[in-house]
Amino acid sequence: MGLNVALIAHDGKKPEMVSFIMSNKDFLDEAELYATGTTGKHIAHEGFEVTPLLSGPLGGDAQIATMVATGKIDLVIFFRDPLDKHPHEPDVQMLMRQCDVHNIPLATNPKAAFYLLRGIEYHLKKEN
Ligand code: PGA
Repeated sequence: MGLNVALIAHDGKKPEMVSFIMSNKDFLDEAELYATGTTGKHIAHEGFEVTPLLSGPLGGDAQIATMVATGKIDLVIFFRDPLDKHPHEPDVQMLMRQCDVHNIPLATNPKAAFYLLRGIEYHLKKEN
């Protein structure tokens, strides 16, 4: 399928990210995965191949924003924790803005991500 997918989860949402990737393993195994540092470690621990970037607070979200801006990412799954404060909130805002600037699909919670993947699967099936 060759989709480039960026995965990010704030600390309070990492368990949900792990559960999400496990229940969407077939889809994600076909994709190229990129993740912020600590999220990437969790994803690799579950046996996925993933390219780790910097940890979010150290610039990982900014790196993904750059990849979005330069056409290297097709889809962003970013489980944000709305109940916690983040020192890198400006980077988070930049990433979300770049997704909107470049019309890149962004899911910020597991249910949105679930429906987004089902939509992409449907779309790809119709194309083939
Ligand atoms: P992390 O970064 O995967 O390195 O924890 C995520 C974030 O806080 O944006």
